[in-house]
Amino acid sequence: MSMESSRRRFLQRLGAAGAAGLSLAAPRGGQRVAWAAGGDGATTAPAPGRKVGFALVGLGKLAQDQLIPALRKTQDCRLTAVVSGHADKAQRIAAANGVPEKNIYSYATFDRLADNPDVDVVYVVLPNAMHAEYTIRAARAGKHVYCEKPMAPTARECQEMIDACKKAGRQLGIGYRLHFEPYNLELARLARTRELGTPKLIDAAACIVIAPDPHQWRLDKKLSGGGSLVDIGIYALQAARYISGEEPLSVSARQTITNPSWFKGIDESMLFTMTFPSGLVASCSSSYVTRLSRWTVSTDSAAFGLEPALYYHNLKGFRSDGKPLVFPDIDQFAAEMDDFARCVRDGHPTRVPGEEGLRDVRIIEALYRSAETARDVRLG
Ligand code: NAD
Repeated sequence: MSMESSRRRFLQRLGAAGAAGLSLAAPRGGQRVAWAAGGDGATTAPAPGRKVGFALVGLGKLAQDQLIPALRKTQDCRLTAVVSGHADKAQRIAAANGVPEKNIYSYATFDRLADNPDVDVVYVVLPNAMHAEYTIRAARAGKHVYCEKPMAPTARECQEMIDACKKAGRQLGIGYRLHFEPYNLELARLARTRELGTPKLIDAAACIVIAPDPHQWRLDKKLSGGGSLVDIGIYALQAARYISGEEPLSVSARQTITNPSWFKGIDESMLFTMTFPSGLVASCSSSYVTRLSRWTVSTDSAAFGLEPALYYHNLKGFRSDGKPLVFPDIDQFAAEMDDFARCVRDGHPTRVPGEEGLRDVRIIEALYRSAETARDVRLG
């Protein structure tokens, strides 16, 4: 069997595992989504067997370096449109990827997507504070929406995004690629089956060194909504939730800023803890000034984890009993887009719905309240 066909078979099995209940978040069951009902847009369900058309909104680093190459590797998706504020860049990328001239949009012409049957899903890959506007406009245009993390800067915007997609009868998914990544799925399985004991402590560190450009949107609170916590710490927060399968009861956070000329009103580093109903505690960190990517789960009798835990490739796992924790290295973006395409086409709910993004943003808001007040915050 060729490497490629072996990879495809693995991905199919992974998809089946998710469908069979190994999903990390929202229950999927056999429930179908009446997604085509109630919408006022022009889209109809993609015919069985037809590839699902994706429009990428925002042609920045993630879109160009990861999503476009990943779309080429998918089984069920194809890039059919691009939306950009830079006509020359959009034309170059469209030409290189077989996207016809008529399917190039600007932010001003975005709403005309409603008339384009080539596009089933709008994938929002813009700065965080623009996610809500383009998700809502896409839903009004009758499109399903896949939106990058963090879903939006505030819980209120997240709810508006959910409501708009519901009203349009379209699905909303959040770009939580680790829900499709086999090492992270295995950590959740080990924790939830108690195969290596009862989890007591999760140590999760998600840190990156930010690019040395003082004009980038990540440093502008109006566009980012926050600092290291919303951008990268959200992975540590997510990991604690999907590994444990529990929701935190209370949280506590402290932020650090050592370079106030760069980090104006946003956290450079954040240390935070979350306490879960079973008594499990998650001790998490995020930072923009160091590089670390590690989850460790300590149980009453053993430990297991990943390092690196959240990079795009070459994750590594360990179990304290010495048994191997090894899985194929997959394209996480191809896996998440294929899954969403199948959900849209077959009418199944995504395992990373808007509600999952909203839960994280509510916790992030509580963490910022805790950092501001230096007090624990209970979540109701
Ligand atoms: P980027 O800066 O490389 O790209 C952002 C794009 O938005 C650019 O094409 C830019 O031209 C466009 N844009 C439109 N209006 C803008 C404005 N007012 N200011 C700045 N840019 C504007 O950013 P990115 O790294 O591609 O991140 C985009 C989104 O993807 C973010 O929400 C980020 O959190 C998310 N992301 C997710 C992952 C992941 O692993 N899932 C990784 C990186 C980024």
